[in-house]
Amino acid sequence: MIPVEFDYQVPESLEDAIDALARGGEDAKLLAGGHSLLPLMKLRLAAPAVLVDLKRVPGLRGVAREDGTLRIGAMTRHSDLEDQPELGLVSHAAGLIADRQVRHRGTIGGSLAHGDPASDLPAVLLACEGSVGVQGPEGTREIPAAELFQDYLTTAIAEGEVMTEVRLPALTDYGFGYRKFMRRAEDWAMVGVCALVKQAGDGTCEDARVGLTHMSSVPLRATAVEEALRGSPLDAASIARAAESAAEGTEPPGDLNATPEYKRHLARVLTRRALEEAAGFTAA
Ligand SMILES: Cc1cc2nc3c(=O)[nH]c(=O)nc-3n(C[C@H](O)[C@H](O)[C@H](O)COP(=O)(O)OP(=O)(O)OC[C@H]3O[C@@H](n4cnc5c(N)ncnc54)[C@H](O)[C@@H]3O)c2cc1C
Repeated sequence: MIPVEFDYQVPESLEDAIDALARGGEDAKLLAGGHSLLPLMKLRLAAPAVLVDLKRVPGLRGVAREDGTLRIGAMTRHSDLEDQPELGLVSHAAGLIADRQVRHRGTIGGSLAHGDPASDLPAVLLACEGSVGVQGPEGTREIPAAELFQDYLTTAIAEGEVMTEVRLPALTDYGFGYRKFMRRAEDWAMVGVCALVKQAGDGTCEDARVGLTHMSSVPLRATAVEEALRGSPLDAASIARAAESAAEGTEPPGDLNATPEYKRHLARVLTRRALEEAAGFTAA
């Protein structure tokens, strides 16, 4: 399929990219890896008149550590993250996105800005309680993960703003796990679950974070699971009991692959497995 004709601009600075977006107005779109936007354009579900490609804007790619925070440039590719296992959950989850070809093009900024509830990294940002930094004509601002994902393919990033970086607490004293269920290898998640667990000195669970992928029109936290596990012994029985609440408050979309009820079942099973992985009972 061939997209509708569009103008293509490749600014060499962030300021020029913001100017180009402002000039294009609602008909302009940023282009990062193109692996979500271009398929939509080819299907003619999106028809921007102007594409502003971020590939030559300096300073948007790479990872820096600062006072316990990971600062990941928005144009950092999934494969860059996958190749740095010391980044923990975000590296592990990035390595499970599609295949290496997609991971070589897709970026963390594109994935988070696109706001697809089937994408893997939004739930990771949410569970880590991270944020994104954006810059626009009015200056810079920070959007916490809990406010970023507003609805299906809709985020709090305003028209004219560019996401410049992703901020994640390093969470080095947490174990982590990610479980994803799909019909074919390298597919999008029918359901995905990421888990982070911090163990106290007496073997109980000091903190638990669980993020759900594709269980609603936005990524979700499984707060009932987290509350059930905090303060409990971090053993198989407590994890199994807590995981039973994984589907509470979810509204998974039914589709060709599965009914909502089956997805709720998957959420419970995958939550138990992701928590077991995070607690060190099973390997990834
Ligand atoms: C075959 C295939 C399989 C895939 N499987 C998975 C999967 O299993 N899991 C998964 O998570 N993803 C999957 N993806 C999606 C992939 O991860 C995409 O690369 C990603 O979702 C979008 O990133 P991108 O850099 O390609 O963004 P683009 O497609 O370039 O852009 C996506 C959207 O974000 C906006 N945008 C991009 N960058 C910025 C920025 N810096 N600031 C503001 N807005 C911005 C664009 O304007 C556009 O609206 C798959 C893609 C393909 C083609």
